[in-house]
Amino acid sequence: MRKKIVAGNWKMNMDYTSGVSLFSEIINMIKDEVRGDQEVIVCPPFVHLHSLVQLANQHPKISIGAQNCHQADAGAYTGEISAAMIKSIGSEYVILGHSERRQYFAESNELLAKKTDMVLKNGLKPIFCIGETLEERNSNIHFDVIKTQLAEGVFHLTAEDFANVVLAYEPVWAIGTGVTASPEQAQEVHAFIRKEIESRYGDAIADNTTILYGGSCNPGNAPELFSQKDIDGGLIGGASLKSRDFTEIVKVFN
Ligand code: PEP
Repeated sequence: MRKKIVAGNWKMNMDYTSGVSLFSEIINMIKDEVRGDQEVIVCPPFVHLHSLVQLANQHPKISIGAQNCHQADAGAYTGEISAAMIKSIGSEYVILGHSERRQYFAESNELLAKKTDMVLKNGLKPIFCIGETLEERNSNIHFDVIKTQLAEGVFHLTAEDFANVVLAYEPVWAIGTGVTASPEQAQEVHAFIRKEIESRYGDAIADNTTILYGGSCNPGNAPELFSQKDIDGGLIGGASLKSRDFTEIVKVFN
């Protein structure tokens, strides 16, 4: 049975004190709500990572992830953070391929494939984001875009490595816009993604891969989205900064 995951992406929000206080509040609210095959992941800015890992340590179903890492092992890359550093403080996940990184930092599929390799090499798990822009959807090329993002970003991996990848379908037009993909639109793409995985790695791995939906997910729309056959949870941006909203979304699986 594949894992159900609710992951929060704090983006570049929260100073250190507010971040620790928000996470402490979240832990208190969700610690008895995460059951069985569920996991909650919180991905704060780098400066919070170490403290949040310490706070999450007593809770086996609550994990911490970074929002990015560099593709090299180490070296003269001022301002960058390596996968090994993230691993060394006990973080377990790294978000890769978020549309904001693709758009504002020109991260290509080729670069993301290298980052994915580095994350896996260091024993971390990537939460690999894919999704089309509004223009691509309106031109009816969204399936081709997603197929290419998968082929160039993660399908070079061995089956053993791919088994550690979490995917997130995040239509760019739904991120931070308040416009959510309808459950039918999201399910259609998730089913397509699972079929692509099946063609590449076979049905057992396809069946076991967690595919999250992201894009203006909130306590109101999460229940219908998460009840779709191929949607295994959410990557939550704005709503992950509000303890009550995030908790409500986590509770959808109960
Ligand atoms: C995100 O940034 O991954 C995201 C899904 O943001 P939001 O929920 O705010 O649309």
